[in-house]
Amino acid sequence: MADFSQTNLYDLSRAELTALMAGWGMAAHAPRLWRSLYWECADSIAGMSGLPAKVRSRLESETRLGALPAARETCSRDGFTRKYLLALEDGAMIETVMMRFTGRVTACVSSQAGCAMGCVFCATGQMGFQRNLSAGEIVAQAVHVSRIHRPRNLVLMGMGEPLHNYDAVMKAVDILRDPNGLSLGAERITLSTVGVVPGILRLAAERRPVHLAVSLHAASQEERAGLVPVAKKWPLPELIAACRVYSWQTGRRIFYEWTLIEGRNDSAEDARAVGRLLSGLPAQVNLIPLNPTAGYDRSPGRAEAARQFQEILANEFSLPCTTRQRRGIDIAAGCGQLAVAS
Ligand code: SAH
Ligand code: SF4
Repeated sequence: MADFSQTNLYDLSRAELTALMAGWGMAAHAPRLWRSLYWECADSIAGMSGLPAKVRSRLESETRLGALPAARETCSRDGFTRKYLLALEDGAMIETVMMRFTGRVTACVSSQAGCAMGCVFCATGQMGFQRNLSAGEIVAQAVHVSRIHRPRNLVLMGMGEPLHNYDAVMKAVDILRDPNGLSLGAERITLSTVGVVPGILRLAAERRPVHLAVSLHAASQEERAGLVPVAKKWPLPELIAACRVYSWQTGRRIFYEWTLIEGRNDSAEDARAVGRLLSGLPAQVNLIPLNPTAGYDRSPGRAEAARQFQEILANEFSLPCTTRQRRGIDIAAGCGQLAVAS
């Protein structure tokens, strides 16, 4: 078991790491250590061969490297998606996904073990909340993926609600953006939220350099509350008002995610209701055909419904709309399928 009194190196920004090393009179080695962490993606302090033995031994005695070993790794039949079951240092488990699209790799990382938000169609919601991840545990997932393929994009769309763990998520984002590290620039990180209104307003006020995706799924408060229980806490009008503030303050367009559920939110009328709801907002709609989970027995419907939805938004409301490519469904690595049996 890890010694939690020791600092996890992945928890430190470059400035913090440099200050720590400076306190030991070893500041000159900080750039090399940062490089070992994020370019070479070393998986142990002992394995950081570019550092002198005395630096390694000081690091070994006062810090730890919270690399997350993969308890299981599965690869989709088409070879484009890999899912890792990662063991946290206290024994909790999380899942992280790597997706390959033409010419780019995207890492999908978790922000919590489980989730407290309880969306009915989501496997993570169905398993309940275990705990928040630390910044270092979020960073370690991206580093894990980088050992095989350097990701160009990062999406905070794995297990958990990122705005329910705001400080750790933002610290991780800052570490992952460092130009001398994984260098995931502002245009390459997307955070998806179920609609935590105070978190959206804070993102806007702090001008955080991430793209924002908001899980909408329904265009009326009543229907949304039936799918997304936290809509009772942050009702749809409040959510849309917060999105308006966000776009106004940041000048950014928001992606609105819509999990398509046959007979529930996939009709032409539903499409028109979204069009009206989002009119005047800088928006793009992202349709996600429902992926199967053990606790929700509904169907994604036919591709025709998605096409019709998309056409209505484009033609009648000039609203860009895309359908998310389904990835890794055979290994339960698709949106909303991440879960760990307790
Ligand atoms: N907690 C955040 C991010 C993780 S979920 C959020 O809810 O936004 C990422 C996306 O997958 C969300 O839009 C979510 O609504 C969607 N999702 C959840 N379960 C799904 C399922 N079974 N099929 C398709 N999409 C799903
Ligand atoms: Fe949590 Fe997002 Fe799943 Fe809802 S969809 S339960 S917020 S992970």
